[in-house]
Amino acid sequence: MGNNPHGGKIAVSACLLGESCRYDGHSKPLDGEGLKKLSSAIPICPECLGGMQIPRPSAEIEPGASGEDVLLGRARVRNSLGEDVTSQFIEGAKRALAICRENGVDTAVLKERSPSCGTHEIYSGEFSGAKKRGMGVTAAMLSQSGIRVLSEDDI
Ligand code: SF4
Repeated sequence: MGNNPHGGKIAVSACLLGESCRYDGHSKPLDGEGLKKLSSAIPICPECLGGMQIPRPSAEIEPGASGEDVLLGRARVRNSLGEDVTSQFIEGAKRALAICRENGVDTAVLKERSPSCGTHEIYSGEFSGAKKRGMGVTAAMLSQSGIRVLSEDDI
């Protein structure tokens, strides 16, 4: 992963590199081997790029929907207070994509289950801890833009 066989650069969810940018003010750092593999990757935190504060209420994509639905305008992202934070999530995804394009990124390693970064799985939208198949908003946008999207479980 340190030498990307596809030739481009790698972006990574900043919380996986140890940045305390999660909703709860913590990080989710990879283990030593994972950190070593991604030591030269470009950190991105879409929710911070979208203007969200640290800490912030947790957010989930509405039940039955995924990041693709949010990008199509068919679903909203709401936080645990019931506030609509869709526009911040879309703005964060756009800014993350812009950073990827400016830096020649062709692969992104993103934090699984996040409503922004989830790659295979996200929380259900009921704030119950249940999960559903699907991508977060940024993962969907990067994937639709031709960037290979992986989760931390894939590396
Ligand atoms: Fe930021 Fe993505 Fe990590 Fe959430 S999962 S804190 S949006 S980098």
